[in-house]
Order: sequence, then structure tokens, then C-alpha cells
Amino acid sequence: MSNSTAVLDGTRTQSDKETMYALVYGGPNQKKWAQVPKPSIIDDTDAIIRVDITTICGSDLHILKGDVPEVTVGRILGHEAIGTVESVGPGVKILKPGQRVVVSCISSCSICRFCREGRFGQCLNGGGWILGHLIDGTQAEFVRVPFCDTSTYPVPTGVSDEELLMFCDIIPTGYEVGVLNGAVAPGDVVAVVGAGPVGLAAIKTAQLFSPRAIVAIDLDDKRLDQARKFGADYTVNNGANDPLKQIMALTNGLGADVAIEAVGLESTFELATTLVRACGHIANIGVHGAPAMLHLEKLWGKDVTITTGLVDTRTVRDLLGLVESKKLDVAAFVTHRFKLAEIIDAYETFSTAGKTGALKVVLAP
Ligand code: NAD
Ligand code: ZN
Repeated sequence: MSNSTAVLDGTRTQSDKETMYALVYGGPNQKKWAQVPKPSIIDDTDAIIRVDITTICGSDLHILKGDVPEVTVGRILGHEAIGTVESVGPGVKILKPGQRVVVSCISSCSICRFCREGRFGQCLNGGGWILGHLIDGTQAEFVRVPFCDTSTYPVPTGVSDEELLMFCDIIPTGYEVGVLNGAVAPGDVVAVVGAGPVGLAAIKTAQLFSPRAIVAIDLDDKRLDQARKFGADYTVNNGANDPLKQIMALTNGLGADVAIEAVGLESTFELATTLVRACGHIANIGVHGAPAMLHLEKLWGKDVTITTGLVDTRTVRDLLGLVESKKLDVAAFVTHRFKLAEIIDAYETFSTAGKTGALKVVLAP
């Protein structure tokens, strides 16, 4: 695995060919749009991919808060991109220069115990969530993608790049870690705590299972307005109202069949555990930077199932099929567009969603 990228200071000392611009993490609350060395092939199965479009994730905000300590100073952030293959290593069998691909936020060696089960997030050979985390990521002009044959998807025809960008992370995350782990079933009442892009992806894909009602819970009224547009039947601003009351009123005092946590705070995890009925499911999606209290004294006898998960992106192919057949519409996730060089402004817009109404911001060179 490569070391952190060295930021080049002062005037360009290398030719344009060997350097590029990228968003470089400088420690908690610090980031810089900087000139850095362009990536090159390290391992035989690598590709160097020119980034055509990329975006910012709630996980990038967690990194910038210091919640993800394994991200070291100098790391290029970003784990979502649609790009064009520029060069490939000698061990690459499928990708060819010039080919356009969806870069998954999860890399897969394809042969370890977990990858063979489709649990790519848990890859034992240096895959999993590495981009913009353990190795340099996609918020850059170019990115090195390890295990590129099995960590990318060819761009299908008939789906726009912006729609495809939603499948690098947020749609499979909401679906796999929220809806599938939570075992959403027809007739269920589903509570979703957090209506950011990931919570909205859970709201959107939960509808594939015909739940009776979806309740979105957030502190931000703009996000709750979006939740209604994405298919939530009820919304609760938990800064002003008690979501438990609303859930109990809807379920004859039983509680939600499924509670999905899509924020990543101690308080929101605890809230999710209070909303669920006996024998229900609590599906945690949020990235947590601090411990959360598990009230076993209240939960031990309720027969609940609690799941955690890092997305595998194992359902991307199936979900893209639903987009191609117009059964899943993801275009509304994109609210703002910036030039890649304006990424500092894009972070400001994304992180102040209460003011800007931002969901996904698309960045193009
Ligand atoms: P986001 O920051 O855009 O959205 C978070 C939402 O939570 C916002 O709408 C915010 O208003 C709301 N919120 C904050 N505090 C709240 C509170 N106390 N009560 C209710 N709502 C509150 O983030 P996102 O991109 O939607 O991602 C959501 C979470 O999912 C993050 O923790 C992210 O790191 C995580 N994530 C996990 C995986 C995975 O594989 N498990 C993958 C991607 C993202
Ligand atoms: Zn992400």
C-alpha cells in the first residue's frame, strides 16, 4: 500500500504529466486543493483511471471531523468516481485503456474467503474500503485503483454518468447495510434516522419491498422535505418532536419493524434502538467515531436483531438493472455541480446542507 501523498509546494518542479491536483487531507478540519504527484501503477492488477466525475460522501465529513483515525495526513480523499482507464498493470485481464468504468468505493481481490462470499467490504488481501481511506482516493484528476478488474463496473449504455455515480457508494449502502440487513419486508413500518444521501438511499430502496410506511427522522427540515420527495410517508424533526410518539401511534404502540441508523452518532444509534418493536431489526449504517451505549437492560428480552456493516457493493449489478428498466430513479440525488478545482466550495455546500439543500454534489474536472 502506498504511503501518503507528498504535497508539492511552490512552483511546479515536475512536468504537468507527472503531477495533478487533488484534495489532500491535512488532519482534523484541514484540507487543501494541492498539486501532488500523479499516481502510477504499483501492483500488477492496478489501473490508473482519469476521474471524469466524483463526489463527496458523509464519510468524508467524518474523516474531516477526525472520526476515522486510520486516515493519515497527506491522504487524497474520495471513494466514488466514474472514470476512463488511462493505463493498466501487466496482470490486468479485462480493463483496457480508454474504457469507461464505475469505480466502486469497495475494492475486491475476488479470491479471499470473504470476496468469494460477495463480502468485498471485508476483503483480506488489501481490498475493502481503501480508496480515500487507506490509500489515495478519487477527489483528484487521476486515481490508482487496485484489483481494477474486480473493483470497477463497465459503464452501461442508457444511464447517465451522474446517475451511475450514485452506485459507487450511497445506493448500495442504503440498500445492503440498511434495507437488506434490516430485512425490510412487505407491510413493514420502517424508521430511518438521518435523511442524508445514505438515509435517502435506504428510503428509496426500501420501497422495492412495499413497506406499509416509511418514517424519516432528521434535525434538518430541508432534508425532511427531500425525504418526502424520495418516498417517506411521514417525517419527524427530532429537534422539535418525539419520533417515538409518531412511531407508536403508527404501530398500535408496538414500535417499528425496522429502524435504520444513517447518521453515525451515539445519540442516533440509541434513538434507533428505542424505536424498534420486539423481534424487530436495527440496522446501523452510520460510521461511528465514538462508542455508543447499548441499553441491554431494555433490549435483552426483546428478541431484536442488531446489524452493523460496511457496504460490499455486491448488489450494484442488480440495482443498475433496475435503473436501466426505469424501476429505480436516482437522478434527484444530484443537487449541485462544481468544477473539481472548486472542491473546497463543494465541501462547504455539502456540509451546510441545512442552508444549501445539498444532497450529492457532482465534481467534474
Ligand atoms: P450526511 O452527513 O449527508 O447526512 C447525515 C444526516 O444526519 C443529515 O441529514 C443530518 O441532518 C442528520 N443528522 C445529524 N445529526 C442528527 C441527529 N441528532 N438526529 C437526526 N438526524 C441527524 O451523510 P450521508 O452521506 O448521508 O451518510 C450517512 C452516514 O452513513 C454517515 O455516517 C456515513 O459515514 C455513513 N456511511 C456508511 C457506509 C457504510 O458502508 N456503512 C457507507 C457510506 C456512508
Ligand atoms: Zn461513502
